[in-house]
Amino acid sequence: MTAHPVDSENTSRALASLRGLAVGDALGSQFFVPSNYQALQNGGLPPGVWQWTDDTEMACSVLAVLAAHGRIDQDALAMSFAEHHDFDRGYGPAVNRMLRLIRQEGADWRELAAGLFNGQGSWGNGAAMRVAPLGAWYAGDAEQATHQAEISAYTTHQHREAVVGAMAVAAMAALVADPDGPKDPSALLGAVLDLVPTSAVKAGIRRARDMLDYADVATVAAVLGCGRRTSAHDTVPFALWSAARHLDDYQQAFWTTAKAGGDVDTTCAIVGGIIAARPTGQPPAEWLERTEPLPLWVAAPAEA
Ligand SMILES: [Mg+2]
Repeated sequence: MTAHPVDSENTSRALASLRGLAVGDALGSQFFVPSNYQALQNGGLPPGVWQWTDDTEMACSVLAVLAAHGRIDQDALAMSFAEHHDFDRGYGPAVNRMLRLIRQEGADWRELAAGLFNGQGSWGNGAAMRVAPLGAWYAGDAEQATHQAEISAYTTHQHREAVVGAMAVAAMAALVADPDGPKDPSALLGAVLDLVPTSAVKAGIRRARDMLDYADVATVAAVLGCGRRTSAHDTVPFALWSAARHLDDYQQAFWTTAKAGGDVDTTCAIVGGIIAARPTGQPPAEWLERTEPLPLWVAAPAEA
């Protein structure tokens, strides 16, 4: 697969969001390395190159498909997920199996995704974790971002909660990336609520909005969940709460999100991708340097 020619503003915005997502994922996943844990709890950075996980690998496919097709093409997206699937990147067992069957046996993603969990589809946070760059791509058109996110979710996650989780993250990133979007955190979450259908995710976001003035992250995480069950409804409301409270401050957003515990690489990937959707929310340069580079096959920036 060749790199896609890229010169649009959409792509540079989405790439900035993707870098923010990758840093959050890579540094967040360091919390699962026992020797790093204490230093991280005290705000210290772990040594070495921080490797990103499935969150970033799948987000790269989302962006590559947008760059190639100008929208989400489900077959192309499922194929890209399968082609680039690296077993060692921390995928959940169901998605691991599904992507292997598509890649090695030419299986049909529609059948596999629909058949997961006795035909209910997965309600995991995997469709939400990869989709913030799509929202950044559609800055200023949160409705289209929500629609394309819904389409993108179905390739792997067909349970309603997983789909709405992806819609909410993309809507939030599109609103954050829009210079004319809502400025106030409560108005921002209100705008997301207007774009997503009734669901546990939506109820959670409503609760997250009610808790915006509540600073104790452990209590907020205990109420909203922080990905311990790796479900969309146990992940997305908390991530949106954290992002809304720390717009324009990537570092603070990261530490707050990570210290809650739970599915740290994914909550930090979602928050990082949303915050970095606008120029004032970029991760520190040192963090970017310490993070494993993005793969070459993702859309390359125009200046490269
Ligand atoms: Mg991960």
